[in-house]
Amino acid sequence: MTPRVLVASRISRSAVELLKSRGFEVVEVNEPPEEELANLIKGFHAIIVRSKPRVTRRVIEAADVLRVIARAGVGLDNIDVEAAEKKGIKVVNAPESVTQAVAELAVGLMLAVARKIAFSDRKMRSGEWVKHEAVGLELKGKTLGIVGFGRIGKAVARICYHGFGMKVVYTDQRCDQEAEREFNAECVDLETLLRRADIVSLHVPLTLETKHMINEDRLRLMKKTAILINTSRGAVVDTNALIKALREGWIAGAGLDVYEEEPLPKDSPLLELENVVLTPHIGASSVEAQEQAGLEVAQKIIELLK
Ligand code: NAD
Repeated sequence: MTPRVLVASRISRSAVELLKSRGFEVVEVNEPPEEELANLIKGFHAIIVRSKPRVTRRVIEAADVLRVIARAGVGLDNIDVEAAEKKGIKVVNAPESVTQAVAELAVGLMLAVARKIAFSDRKMRSGEWVKHEAVGLELKGKTLGIVGFGRIGKAVARICYHGFGMKVVYTDQRCDQEAEREFNAECVDLETLLRRADIVSLHVPLTLETKHMINEDRLRLMKKTAILINTSRGAVVDTNALIKALREGWIAGAGLDVYEEEPLPKDSPLLELENVVLTPHIGASSVEAQEQAGLEVAQKIIELLK
């Protein structure tokens, strides 16, 4: 019997071609809603999704021959992993594929905030030449505080240590001596990191422990000149506390790619603040990462179904 793969969100052509070349029948649909997906899923041995569509318990229960749910990316927030495991369905993802893309965006946000790039661009478009207000800070020699020293955290450290000569401090559940040697990094607790860092960059997953990890008390520990970068998950930061911190100058600025509510509500006070740079959850959105994510999960499906 020909194995059938439902590609439920747009992935790279090379991934689709790879599956076809190995004898898989591929059906492509565009992020169907739950109801439609529950009807569609029958007869498919594997499904590939990105951050959408949602593969809910309902969809999983409706599946008859499904053996693999593949996320062409990292986060599994849109997949009911527990329901899948209960039915013996494997859930796979492509954790390595987006590391560099997210790390480069985090560094881009650091520069955009520190050198007031987005602010200057906004002003120029409205006809203002803001030379004095746009005086920024250099990254060279500053202390970078990485919260969550995993794949992305280390990739950010690598760019900032080698590229800007930044000093790296980090916090994680465990210290990593090999990485410490590579970046001359120092493992510290979160409070020490917040007190010492000029740039704080968040790279932890969202868990019960990390939800609102950056709250009012912790924001108050940061330097007034410090910049907070969040490319992890919105709820790692207490948004209301952050807005207060930015308005009242407890910290100098923030660069955000992720939000507690996405899309960011149109009336969010963040949109009014000049010292914030916002991107619409595009950390993983590079051509290279999408290509790699598709190929990585296609290969896993081929392995698992062969
Ligand atoms: P990873 O698993 O390699 O690294 C996460 C690190 O956080 C690990 O070293 C882990 O030990 C540490 N950690 C977990 N809980 C902690 C805690 N309570 N305190 C301190 N450290 C803790 O993951 P990664 O690939 O580096 O990705 C990091 C996060 O980036 C993901 O979980 C995801 O939420 C986010 N992400 C965002 C985008 C985007 O588009 N912006 C894309 C991909 C991933």
